[in-house]
Amino acid sequence: MRKQALTKIGVKDIIVLRRIDKDLFGFSDREIKEGRDVFLIGINVFAEMGAYDAYLMYIIVSALFIPILIVGVVANVKVNSTFAKYSKVDSNTGLTAAEAARRVLDSEGLTDVAIVRIRGNLTDNYNPSTKVLSLSESVYGSTSVAALGVACHEAGHAVQHSKKYLFSTLRTKLVPILNFANTFLWPLFIIGVIFGFMGTFGIIGDVFIIIGLVIFGGSLLFSLVTLPTEFDASKRAIRVLSDGYMSGEELKGAKKVLTAAAMTYIASFMMSALHFLRILAMFFMRRRD
Ligand SMILES: [Zn+2]
Repeated sequence: MRKQALTKIGVKDIIVLRRIDKDLFGFSDREIKEGRDVFLIGINVFAEMGAYDAYLMYIIVSALFIPILIVGVVANVKVNSTFAKYSKVDSNTGLTAAEAARRVLDSEGLTDVAIVRIRGNLTDNYNPSTKVLSLSESVYGSTSVAALGVACHEAGHAVQHSKKYLFSTLRTKLVPILNFANTFLWPLFIIGVIFGFMGTFGIIGDVFIIIGLVIFGGSLLFSLVTLPTEFDASKRAIRVLSDGYMSGEELKGAKKVLTAAAMTYIASFMMSALHFLRILAMFFMRRRD
């Protein structure tokens, strides 16, 4: 079994890991050799349980956390800088962001949706349960290209809700499930991590791994349906803005702001995927022949 495992894992996989170790952690050749020995011992232990693929998956997924974290940080910096840049570019419409959002809502017959001003930076959102569209201080009264883009994007969410757009409906339905997981399952999971229950082989370990799968699976599903919801809201915003409000450079600016915002959702989706894949690998690592 051990020999079989080593032939199957192959030299190629080890080269991949060597490169990851070197690029990511700046390991020396000696450290990599030692690390490889430890890795091979790990592979052998898991191979005897018939779980070396899962172990390899666990290591690769773990190695991806730092690069994806960096992608997330870059996306956040980018959305702030793009917003700041196009906040200084006034649009020729002469409308404030709140007025533009009002027009979009009214043209869709959504006169019952209220628009309010809230604190914070990029805290703009639409709450379907209260039918309130909240615009942040830097957006609400602004006539900039960036503010109009954000306001029309949020109005797009209100339109999605009224038209029962599939993904935004799914997203709303997932909220109570996510709240349940955060309130009841997260504390349990943290206890499991602190006391190392996940490392134990037996029913207790299994229960904690399954709790983890539910938590991370739920949030992965949520960030997955968030993607089309956000893309669609931006598409609606650009369609409205290009229809008599903006053109040329102004429209390009609004697009750039919304694209930068979309990148942050993609980054958080990738992070959720990693969390889920890691716990999934742990789940498979526990399976014995
Ligand atoms: Zn949005």
